[in-house]
Parts: sequence; C-alpha cells; structure tokens
Amino acid sequence: MGFFRDEVERMTAYVPGEQPPAGSRVIKLNTNENPYPPSPAVARAIAEELGRDGERLRLYSDPAASLVRRAAEDATGFPADRILVGNGSDELLALLVRAVVNPGDVIEYPFPTYVLYETLAAAAGARVRTPEFARDFALPSALFGSDARLVFIASPNSPSGNSHPPSMLEELSRSLRGGLLVIDEAYADFAPTNALSLALSLPNVVVLRTFSKSYSLAGMRLGLLFASREVALGIGKVKDSYNLDRLAIVAGAAALSDGAWMRANVEKIRATRARLVQGLAALGLDVLPSSANFVFARYPSADRARAAYTSLKARGILVRYFDRPLLDDGLRITVGTDEEIDALLGALSAL
Ligand code: PMP
Repeated sequence: MGFFRDEVERMTAYVPGEQPPAGSRVIKLNTNENPYPPSPAVARAIAEELGRDGERLRLYSDPAASLVRRAAEDATGFPADRILVGNGSDELLALLVRAVVNPGDVIEYPFPTYVLYETLAAAAGARVRTPEFARDFALPSALFGSDARLVFIASPNSPSGNSHPPSMLEELSRSLRGGLLVIDEAYADFAPTNALSLALSLPNVVVLRTFSKSYSLAGMRLGLLFASREVALGIGKVKDSYNLDRLAIVAGAAALSDGAWMRANVEKIRATRARLVQGLAALGLDVLPSSANFVFARYPSADRARAAYTSLKARGILVRYFDRPLLDDGLRITVGTDEEIDALLGALSAL
C-alpha cells in the first residue's frame, strides 16, 4: 500500500503540452498561447503594485479579489457578486469538483475534450460518463437528460475547435436532472457566439473564462467563473483565501480595462487562422471548422500524423499530438503570427 488515497494511487497525472526552457528558439504552436503581448496597461499595473522595493508584497492579497471582479462586471455587465476569480480557469474547474462531487458521483463530458476533466474526476473518485462525439463534434444526444452532478462542456471544444450553439447549451441545461452544467469558454473570445447570458438566467449554468488565450496572460494564471449567487457562494467556501496574488489581481483588472487591445489581437489571430486553414487544406489535410485560436487538422492515417508531428519537432516547430482514439490522425496547431504560420506551412509542404 502506498501513501496515497486509492484514487490517487490509480490515476495518472495530467500531462501538459511541452514548455521548452526560456530562450529556446522554437516556434511554439502547442499550447494555444497568444502570439502577441498583453496590453501595456498590464505591465504598468504590475510595476506600480511592485513599487520600488516590493514593499506591498509583505501583505496578503485581497481574498475577494474585488478589483478584478469589478473590472469583470464593467467588461461583461455580469454582477460582480456572482463572479469568482481563480488561479487560472484550471483552479476554478478543480474548485467546482471539490465543492460539488462526492466519491462515486457521476461527472459527464463528451469525448474527446479537455483532458483535465478526466484527471480531476479521477482524483475525486468520481465515476465518469463520456459519450463520444461523432466526427462533426456536435453535442452527443446521450448528454441530454443526464443525472450527473457535473456536466463539462468546452465551447469552443479542444482539440476540435468547434463551438456549440447557445440554444443547444440552453436546451442541455434545461434537460439536466439536478446537476450543474459547466460551460468552459476558455476560447470564447475567438468564437462568433458565447453562452455567458445563460449563466445570468439559468441557476444550473456556470460559465468559465480564462485570461490565458485572448488576453495573452497564460503565465499570470487568471480565470473567471460566472454563476448564480448561490453557486458562487458555495464554490467560494472551498477556495483558498488568497488564491490570487497581488500581481495577478492588478494584472487582471488592467487587462479587462483594455478590451480594445484584446479584441485587436483576436482580430489578427482570426485573420491568420483563415490563412492557416486555407494553407492546410491546400496541402490536402482535412481541417475542422474552428472558432478558437487553434485548428485541428487530420491526415489520412495516424502514422502520417505522428510522422508530421515528429518531423516538425525536429525542425523546431512544436504542435500538439494526442495519441488517443479519434485524435491520433490529427495535429492541433495553435494560430501564431503570420510568420510562424508561414514557417509551419513551409515545413509541412516539405515533408
Ligand atoms: N479549459 C480549456 C478547454 C483549455 O483548453 C484550457 C487551457 N489548457 C483551460 C481551460 C485552462 O486555462 P487556464 O490557463 O485558465 O488554466
């Protein structure tokens, strides 16, 4: 017998995309980061919070992170007392599981999707139900009427890139039998629609957003949770008091106050995404329609996809390869700058 709970002994850890050491000369298209810097307001706010000698770091941060929550209310119109802030949306996902799921309870999500859901469920000793997506990645009908305690839907989904129509998500939430629908909108700023208004009107809907993609702040670790007052209070009970540090709080507020900067970067990324899709299609790959800052492109066979991944890596270009059913014939490619995408397309056509 080891030191750990049975669930922990049995589970495998989440494997994040490769993060090469700082200064490496690679083209990094594997973890859906933004290729452009965050608003200059962010670095100014951090410098101001640090001051000359970091004196303020002596004191704990605001446990309520009110500055970010008010900025999120200003940016979205969603009431601040129904918003929680997390150390990345990954923390908010973990808090949801911690607050809602008893060992043996059911967590449901379609497969394939964001792999962390599986890791969190395993650590909690939850049972999982994972109805499979069809090749078009529309919501599986088996989800409707679910009695799971938590249903996770990433919209846009990763790694497929498609988003689900808000009307379908509303129908899904109305069909659930007592559980919460968590709509993970990490990539929603790149999509034509989003489901935030459902969290405003439906008590069993939670919407998550992150600063890691559209706001170019993956390294700052910031996420937002939008819910009913009751759900926000319940999740707030199990969070660490000071889950956001002082620098993250001012950085998040500054980023939200400069929405124009974020939207300009999103527009550039969408334009590059269109070029990438066209370039991949011209090389004969089958590209799923994407509403995110990445695309999923399929080869005729898993062997060819794996070979492409390996050769790109040898040329200093990192993309994401998932050695799993339904995904092992494709590559997930983050939309970088135009230059990075040209280099990628050049390398792929040389293969
Ligand atoms: N949800 C999805 C669907 C994601 O792809 C990611 C990024 N890995 C996250 C959540 C986590 O984002 P964060 O950096 O805010 O923890």
